[in-house]
Amino acid sequence: MNLNELLDKLVIKNRPICELGHLANYIPELDRAPKGALGIFITDINGNKYCAGDWNNKFTIQSISKLITLMLAILDNGEDYVFSKVGMEPTGDPFNSIVKLETSNGKKPYNPMINAGAIAVSSMIKGKDAKEKFDRLLDFFKLISEDNTLDVDYKVYCSESETGNRNRSMGYFLKSEGIIDGNVEDALTVYFKQCSIEVTAETLSKIAVFLLNNGRLSTGEEIIPTRVATIIKTLMVTCGMYDNSGEFAIRVGIPSKSGVGGGILSVVPGKMAIGVYAPSLDEKGNPIAGVALLEDLSKELNLTIF
Ligand code: GLN
Repeated sequence: MNLNELLDKLVIKNRPICELGHLANYIPELDRAPKGALGIFITDINGNKYCAGDWNNKFTIQSISKLITLMLAILDNGEDYVFSKVGMEPTGDPFNSIVKLETSNGKKPYNPMINAGAIAVSSMIKGKDAKEKFDRLLDFFKLISEDNTLDVDYKVYCSESETGNRNRSMGYFLKSEGIIDGNVEDALTVYFKQCSIEVTAETLSKIAVFLLNNGRLSTGEEIIPTRVATIIKTLMVTCGMYDNSGEFAIRVGIPSKSGVGGGILSVVPGKMAIGVYAPSLDEKGNPIAGVALLEDLSKELNLTIF
């Protein structure tokens, strides 16, 4: 069986699992997604492409954007500065949890993959105001995905911004503790916009190719040092699937980052770059059928890194 046939088979097998989850209706616009959708797009190390199911559906990148913003924040400020404001440890708490913020050492968010950490990272993007910061960030997304068409889904952005009170409260807390240096509303605007960038499973696969190539474009040009690509992939393993990262490491064993829009971006070092779309989520906020599909794929092809 070739890889396209295997992917078709696994999409058919796992699609019924979509029914067991729920859409991310805490962001009202995301409640309009097709609950039964499931798709996958793979680019292998030689550039061959394979896909199945709803790989061409559009959705918002959501938390997967945290990886890309972290890359630019490290380029802008250096690794030491970024990690003086945000930790490197998994929390074991939900992605939007506030509980450890006040008790953590130095009031630092535990890691850049939870919302509090990501909002702090968004505040570090250089620029005189939210517009300049976000324009630079969007240009960086376009550069590393080698896709000039990327843009914000403004309906989702407005929906997030109008209902993002929990994220706002974390932003203001971080400001009061000096974790956010600049304007807190600018940081939140950048964060809500980066989460609302519209992608497909193919786009996620393209971004994953950049990590597969350790921060180099298809031309060979180095955009981020290998060290930064390694940091990103390591955080994907330890924190990428929120408080399910441990179980995911055992069941799937592939560095991955999920988003509540239904995306999963996965990198199998030395082998392949994967984008998944499955908007129906489990109780931790991970794409329920997407995780099941990756688990099957990992077992079939022996992709675990461990
Ligand atoms: N924009 C979403 C939020 O802030 C991102 C969360 C996610 O994808 N887990 O809640």
